[in-house]
Amino acid sequence: MPETLAELTTLRVGGPAAEIVHATTEQALLDAVRSADAVGSPLLIVAGGSNLVVGDGGFEGTVVRVGTTGVHASSDVPDAAVCGGVTVTVAAGEPWEPFVEHAVEQGWVGTEALSGIPGSVGATPVQNVGAYGQEVADTVASVRCWDRVDDVQRTFAAADCGFGYRTSRFKQDPARFVVLDVTFQFRAGRLSAPVRYAELARTLGVQVGARAPMRDVREAVLGLRRAKGMVLDASDHDTWSAGSFFTNPLLARDVADRLPPDAPRWTQPDGTVKTSAAWLIEHSGFSRGYGTQRVALSGKHTLALTNRGGATTAELLDLAAEIQHGVHGRYGVWLVNEPVLVGCGLPAPDASTTVG
Ligand SMILES: Cc1cc2nc3c(=O)[nH]c(=O)nc-3n(C[C@H](O)[C@H](O)[C@H](O)COP(=O)(O)OP(=O)(O)OC[C@H]3O[C@@H](n4cnc5c(N)ncnc54)[C@H](O)[C@@H]3O)c2cc1C
Repeated sequence: MPETLAELTTLRVGGPAAEIVHATTEQALLDAVRSADAVGSPLLIVAGGSNLVVGDGGFEGTVVRVGTTGVHASSDVPDAAVCGGVTVTVAAGEPWEPFVEHAVEQGWVGTEALSGIPGSVGATPVQNVGAYGQEVADTVASVRCWDRVDDVQRTFAAADCGFGYRTSRFKQDPARFVVLDVTFQFRAGRLSAPVRYAELARTLGVQVGARAPMRDVREAVLGLRRAKGMVLDASDHDTWSAGSFFTNPLLARDVADRLPPDAPRWTQPDGTVKTSAAWLIEHSGFSRGYGTQRVALSGKHTLALTNRGGATTAELLDLAAEIQHGVHGRYGVWLVNEPVLVGCGLPAPDASTTVG
């Protein structure tokens, strides 16, 4: 039985937990959460541990590991091929990547570009997981939760989940909701959703906006991700990470205008401008592999902070802070961490430079 958070996280850092409960049924999950809440014990929900950085001091409370299982599909109509709708409800503890593989095999369209992302299904709505032009908000129909504040179950329709770029109401209110299951609404077919990401479209040899066979999209995404160290591989330290450590900054127009002309810019519907955190890091003098023998940027991607073996959380966050200061000093943009920090922290974002 694992006793430290390092054993439960893909970064392999984090100190001991006072208590770890493995919940493999929904009842066990609810019992563990309600028992901890009843006595006021701090509670940390962990699933795949792939978006979590826990302090070296560990967690003084109950860690509940979500291991619930179950995938239930029901076609909307008797002949799904005609109307194309399939509704699938998946328990929170189901691992995400095998579910995507299954979805592609079944001809459920809409998560194929999210192949290779580690972690659980239940965590995907928490930060509205996204990659290669797709995000789960595209296919989530509803999320059933335990509401720890009101002591009731609640089901949120997608429109009420507060989905945004790497965020949701669940991420914004972390002490309140435990995701129990997620219901997806898929179109049925063999062709992917329109390919929106230029690098993926180039790899597939199609135009942006075109569809491609879902299996090809999945294989192309897995290939691109492996080349960037973004598919877990225990033998490759470049994947001992939490994926992208910083979100792509959303900048006010005047801040974006001050970036060099060659900095990537994507204007958002609300008028803000998204730029590339990886570009900012690289152009601030932090190249791949930058760091020490124990913590360093991935040798394949500047956006991933990695444990090279024996790292502590403090060392990891020192590197993160050095990068934040370096990028801010060079471009006036404050990078914000994407993983959830528990029992540890980083300097707060500078509101005058970054919005959203
Ligand atoms: C190599 C690598 C590549 C990655 N690539 C991507 C990517 O392309 N796109 C992307 O968006 N993310 C990516 N990630 C981040 C991560 O995989 C996702 O955020 C994933 O959804 C986290 O799932 P998890 O089960 O590991 O969550 P955990 O790390 O266990 O938890 C993350 C947060 O969610 C909460 N949580 C987990 N389960 C529940 C639940 N059932 N109810 C309520 N709260 C819950 C936890 O308390 C915590 O706050 C990557 C990570 C790695 C290591």
